[in-house]
Amino acid sequence: MNSEDPKQLLVISGKGGTGKTTIVASFAALADGEVLSDCDVDAADLHLILHPEVKTREEFSGGKVAVKDDNLCTDCGICREHCRYDAIDENFEIDSFSCEGCGVCEYVCPEDAITMEPVLSGYSIESSTEYGNMAHGELVAGEETSGKLVTDIKQKAGKIAEDTGKELIIIDGSPGIGCPVIASLSNVDLALIVTEPTLSGLSDLRRVTGLLDHFEIQGNIVINKYDLNLEVTGKIEELAEEDGLTLLGKIPYDSVVTEAMVHEKSVVEYSSSPVAREIESIWKKVKRALKDVS
Ligand code: SF4
Ligand code: SF4
Repeated sequence: MNSEDPKQLLVISGKGGTGKTTIVASFAALADGEVLSDCDVDAADLHLILHPEVKTREEFSGGKVAVKDDNLCTDCGICREHCRYDAIDENFEIDSFSCEGCGVCEYVCPEDAITMEPVLSGYSIESSTEYGNMAHGELVAGEETSGKLVTDIKQKAGKIAEDTGKELIIIDGSPGIGCPVIASLSNVDLALIVTEPTLSGLSDLRRVTGLLDHFEIQGNIVINKYDLNLEVTGKIEELAEEDGLTLLGKIPYDSVVTEAMVHEKSVVEYSSSPVAREIESIWKKVKRALKDVS
């Protein structure tokens, strides 16, 4: 990455439903038309608030599946002997749901009767919103977000930023610590972890912090609905201090967040509640922290 590349802010959480999207949508409204990127494709709900208008929608293939040409097949059975996933039946037909796309059958078939063909996993999309351009994804039913799709969405966001001269990409990351999150961490300048004061939130936070440490990414933290359990909030604050995370804010519980969602608005546009004011204060701190990242 060179100094002219746009900066990347990644908002993540240990699990879904911690209020991550509420914060990203508010940041989108507070930012000055920066590029947005929704990498939480399994639970993509940023569009419910940002109402993107699709500009391009490209097919995305996350893997391949073996396809047999019956005209070439001689029923020798060699492919079945070698398939470790039991994806080829006694009639040497390939079950595309069991096929893991390893390509061994294509390699061993003496008749070249098998080819590996891409499977449609979803779509990689570029849209415009009233808050700026957005890169996001959509999955075909039954498919899960893959690291590849997240990488594709991030590359798209990077290209949009480059073409439009924007200096920041705000990324709504996948929850957890799996492959999609790891893909979303690449080239990130600042990570903001959104957590809630529950015991599971505390252990999720430890796992996410470990991941950020591993990739040497500066971690910041926001405690959402902090007043629902002040004891656990205190423990999270202690953990943040021990792990060198910067606490950027504590958002109180308020039903106005749900009301804003029902009205398909970010909470900072919907109200001037304490929640909205706290998110505005967090955004100011995020901007300052981004300035300090070289
Ligand atoms: S190895 Fe090739 S020719 Fe033999 S059964 Fe499989 S597909 Fe048919
Ligand atoms: S690609 Fe691999 S998993 Fe799929 S049918 Fe061939 S050998 Fe089996």
